[in-house]
Amino acid sequence: MSAQSAPVRRDGAVVNAMTIDVEDYFQVSAFAPYIDRARWDSMPCRVEANVDRILGLLDDAGARATFFTLGWLAERYPVLVRRIADAGHELASHGYGHLRATEQGLDEFLTDIKLAKAILEDVSSRQVSGYRAPSFSVGPKNAWAFDCIADAGYRYSSSIYPIRHDHYGVPDAPRFAHEVRPGLLEVPVATIRLLARNWPAGGGGYFRLMPYSLSRWFLERVNAVDGKPATFYLHPWEFDPEQPRVAQANAKARFRHYLNLSRTGDRMRRLLADFRWDRIDRVYLGAVA
Ligand SMILES: [Zn+2]
Repeated sequence: MSAQSAPVRRDGAVVNAMTIDVEDYFQVSAFAPYIDRARWDSMPCRVEANVDRILGLLDDAGARATFFTLGWLAERYPVLVRRIADAGHELASHGYGHLRATEQGLDEFLTDIKLAKAILEDVSSRQVSGYRAPSFSVGPKNAWAFDCIADAGYRYSSSIYPIRHDHYGVPDAPRFAHEVRPGLLEVPVATIRLLARNWPAGGGGYFRLMPYSLSRWFLERVNAVDGKPATFYLHPWEFDPEQPRVAQANAKARFRHYLNLSRTGDRMRRLLADFRWDRIDRVYLGAVA
């Protein structure tokens, strides 16, 4: 595995890894206390249209990405899953039912990630190498999860955001790709190191909160100062200002979820133009697919 060296294009630019966590607005962890999963099937679905929008943006830029997709969605939207794979993107697993690894025992977690892999491979007729835990819920307290991820046949995980955050994050975890088990690479989300702490540079709510110029400066710093690829992530619902509101959620969850949704599309377009992007398997595993 080529975790140490940053892939570079002929023009010298580092190739970064763009990733999309494919889940709908009613499946996010922050809303889990307010929306029983038994209701998921009755919620108006927005994920297909939002993924299509992202596919269009990627296509316009000639970029490829990795789509960490829920098994629950793949069962219901197999055509969408095939559309992602047929467009040249990497299909990867976000587990079956978006339960945090920290909420599951070993057997339940292993069953969930094996089931998701089997569904995605069955639907797409392609091998699935990557897994991302919901809400970056793998860390030192449940390091057994890495044994499960390796046992389930994945070749890499992208489940750690090495920052301090109230819901997730391992602030002292290694900032760059490293082998966590024999044959299993962990590919953390991008951070910059500044003033003796890590700052989030890899997307999520921070990308919607910060001005675009600051996000760009953070990523330039990862590429130029660290000399490494950055791993960035977005969700389909972040492109959808019209999504139904979850009014029962508390003020903090609503602020984080609904902030600047109308700006994400334009910001992603700029991100795709300002940096080089590819799928995780090509950036980190040297896959030629
Ligand atoms: Zn998720």
